[in-house]
Amino acid sequence: MTTVDSMKSYAASEANSRGRRVEEPRPAHRGEYQRDRDRIIHSTAFRRLMYKTQVFVNHEGDLYRTRLTHSLEVSQIGRSVAVALGLNEPLTESICLAHDLGHTPFGHAGQDTLNACMRDFGGFEHNLQSLRVVDELEAKYADFPGLNLMFETREGILKHCSSRNARRLGDVGERFLERTQPGLEAQIANIADAIAYNNHDVDDGFRAGLLTLEQLREQPLFEQQYARVRGKYPDLEDRRLIFEIIRRMIGTVVTDLIEETDRRIQAAGVTAIDDVRAAGEPLVNMSPPVYEQHLSLKRFLNKHLYGHEQKLEMTRRAQAIVADLFKAYSQDVALMPPEFANRAASLDGAPRARVVADYIAGMTDRYAIAAHERLTG
Ligand code: MG
Repeated sequence: MTTVDSMKSYAASEANSRGRRVEEPRPAHRGEYQRDRDRIIHSTAFRRLMYKTQVFVNHEGDLYRTRLTHSLEVSQIGRSVAVALGLNEPLTESICLAHDLGHTPFGHAGQDTLNACMRDFGGFEHNLQSLRVVDELEAKYADFPGLNLMFETREGILKHCSSRNARRLGDVGERFLERTQPGLEAQIANIADAIAYNNHDVDDGFRAGLLTLEQLREQPLFEQQYARVRGKYPDLEDRRLIFEIIRRMIGTVVTDLIEETDRRIQAAGVTAIDDVRAAGEPLVNMSPPVYEQHLSLKRFLNKHLYGHEQKLEMTRRAQAIVADLFKAYSQDVALMPPEFANRAASLDGAPRARVVADYIAGMTDRYAIAAHERLTG
């Protein structure tokens, strides 16, 4: 466990925290950021991640990542990096576990469609929605709406944000107007997300037969490890080969990330979290050559996996489901469960559309499919 004593002076900590929106008594046997993590794990939105698409829709196969297992892998990577750098592990874990709480069903197809439906009503952005879930939508505590998380956890969840939304959001929006950086733990969670999906999507894409070894070998990150593993184990069967390559790719990128970030922290001469915030750019990053390889793999997956014809077919279906649901609930809010219908009934325009978006965004894939079947027969 990371204790306060072993954390660097520039780590986010209870001592330099901006605290919770509603003041609460201190927990007896755990820290404030451990409490945040525990609240996230016990939330309804967290359990729903189990049945939400990462890349493959849940019913396509049992072994593919869901948003839940994706979030756990992000958390594993984020925690490793945070501990190695002497930063706040439970805060990093909290941000990682919560980063996708606001994601729609059907992955990016769902998000983009809901955003299009909400075009005249302020749009829809899953990142902003994750903050909305922990600030407002979870209804579990008697004394406050949402989970009343620490400022630094909320700051980390809100990865990006338009100026218009930033002004509306108050404290967590400030950094987008002032162009300052979030704490290092938030920066780690952000890049841990990308490392996690880059690697698990290679695994899932290969398992699905949508990516081939030949294609993957054009990627330097993959090819370097392929050459090493093949050289040492010439007869290894493909599944174990892929796994051995992926674990080494994660290891290479994470090691580079830790070493490069440590170098940048030292070079910037930061001693306090305010120095981190005032730095002209994020201090957490890979070295330029490794970052370029990481981006190259990301572009490759975009083209060959997310853009694969077989995926696009599911995308089109998901888009139709989300668009139909939005239209139906907007025309007749009474079709939604009472807690949403009652909220929407007294509203008009954008606030009313937001209630519909909240309801749809919270759905799991299979719930959305069933709701759609009920509406369309
Ligand atoms: Mg993610």
